[in-house]
Amino acid sequence: MLPNKASAVIIGGGVMGVSTAYHLAARGCQDVVLLEKAAFLGSEATGKCAGGIRYQFSTEINVRLSLLSLPMLVNFEEELGQQIDLRWTGYLFLLDNDADVCAYQAQVSMQNRLGVPSRMLSHDEAAQMVPLLNTADIMGGAYHARDGLADPSGVVQGYAAGARRRGVQLLTGVEVTGIRVQAGKVTGVQTSQGAIDAPVVVNAAGPWARQVAAMAGVQLPISPVRRQIAVTTPLPDVPADFPFVIDFSRNLYFHREGRGVLTGQSNVNEPPGFNQSVDHNWTEQHLDNAIFRFPLLAKAGLLREWAGLYEVTPDAHPVIDRLADPLGFYVVAGFSGHGFMHGPAAGLLMSELILDGQARSRDIQQLRLSRFAEGDLVKEHNVV
Ligand SMILES: Cc1cc2nc3c(=O)[nH]c(=O)nc-3n(C[C@H](O)[C@H](O)[C@H](O)COP(=O)(O)OP(=O)(O)OC[C@H]3O[C@@H](n4cnc5c(N)ncnc54)[C@H](O)[C@@H]3O)c2cc1C
Repeated sequence: MLPNKASAVIIGGGVMGVSTAYHLAARGCQDVVLLEKAAFLGSEATGKCAGGIRYQFSTEINVRLSLLSLPMLVNFEEELGQQIDLRWTGYLFLLDNDADVCAYQAQVSMQNRLGVPSRMLSHDEAAQMVPLLNTADIMGGAYHARDGLADPSGVVQGYAAGARRRGVQLLTGVEVTGIRVQAGKVTGVQTSQGAIDAPVVVNAAGPWARQVAAMAGVQLPISPVRRQIAVTTPLPDVPADFPFVIDFSRNLYFHREGRGVLTGQSNVNEPPGFNQSVDHNWTEQHLDNAIFRFPLLAKAGLLREWAGLYEVTPDAHPVIDRLADPLGFYVVAGFSGHGFMHGPAAGLLMSELILDGQARSRDIQQLRLSRFAEGDLVKEHNVV
C-alpha cells in the first residue's frame, strides 16, 4: 500500500534506483520508498542491457567509477547473498584506423596510471586472440583481461531484496505523475495511486529522467535513444573464453550468451525517442555487419532480438547531483549506454550525497548538472 509519507522517494526501479535504495537502507535510513511504474523492477534499460562491465574508458572519472563499482560486483554475492554470474571474459576493442589506435594508446596509458593493467595489442596479437573473427582490416586492439560480464537481473534482485530486508518499500505499478515543490524545496510526489510527502526525491528514471526532472521544474539534457540486440542459436565452435569484442569504428559488439552469441550495433542515425519496437531494417544491416566481422554467425539462426533505450547526455557522462533548486531533488541518471556497470557505485554515491551532503567515495564534481550550462563538459570516447 502507498504510504502517505517517506523520508525519501526514489523514482525508478532500475539498477540506479534499487542500488540507491539499498545503500540508503544499509546506512540505516528509515522509511525509504521506491516507486516503479512498470510491473517489474529492472524491466527497462537495465533488463535490456548487454551486461558488459569494464574499466576501459577514455576519461579518468569513468575509470574511477569502474574502480569503485566493479569490486562491489565482486563482493556482491557475499554482501547480498545473490548470484550475479560474474565472468571475467576480458574486453577486446578492435581498432581499424590510426586515429583510434593513437587515441587508445593514450587511454591505455591513463588506465595504467590509475592501476588498470589494460594493454595495446598488435594486429597479430588481436587476430590470435579471436581467430574466429575476420581481422584482415584490423590494425590492433586494446585489451583488459579483468573486464567481462554480469547478470543485470541478479544485480537488481539482489539490491531490491537487500533493500526490502532493511525496510524499504519497493512498489511496482506506481507512476510518479508530479513532484511537489514549495518555496524552493521538494515536499513530495504525486503518483497514479495518491500522494506521498517527502523532503527528498531521487530521480533514477533512466531514459525518462528528463520528463521526471521537468516535473520539478528542472531541465535535464538526457535523451532516450533506441538500441538493439540480437542473440543467435547455439554456436558450439565459439570457445568459453571468447572475450567481449567491440569493433569500435562500427559500434558493433559480440559476446557469448548461453551457447550462442549476443551481438549489438548502435545505429548512429537513430533519432531520440521512446520507440522500443525492433527496427527490422536495422537488424538486417546489423547482421550483415556482424557476419562480415564474425563469419561464423552466418551458420546460426536468430534466437531472439529486442530493443531498449540508452539514456544519453551530451557528453556521455551521467548526472549524479544534489540540486540547490529545488532543494531535496537528487539526480542519478544519464549513464549513456554504460550505466549497468556503474550502478553499484552510483547508488553508493547517491546515498552519500543524501545522508552526508557530499559524495565521499569519489570526487564527482565533474558529474554535476550545472556543467552543461557552464560548458564544462567531459567527453567519453568509448561509447558503443
Ligand atoms: C541495448 C542496451 C545495451 C546496454 N548494454 C550495457 C552494457 O553492456 N553495460 C552497461 O553497463 N550498460 C549497458 N547499457 C546501459 C544500461 O542498461 C543503463 O545505463 C542502465 O541500466 C540505466 O539504469 P537506470 O536505472 O538509470 O534506468 P532503467 O533501468 O531504465 O530504470 C529506470 C526506471 O524508471 C522507471 N520510471 C520512469 N519514469 C517513471 C515514473 N514517472 N514513475 C515511476 N517509475 C518511472 C522506468 O520504468 C524504469 O524502470 C545498455 C543499455 C541498452 C538499452
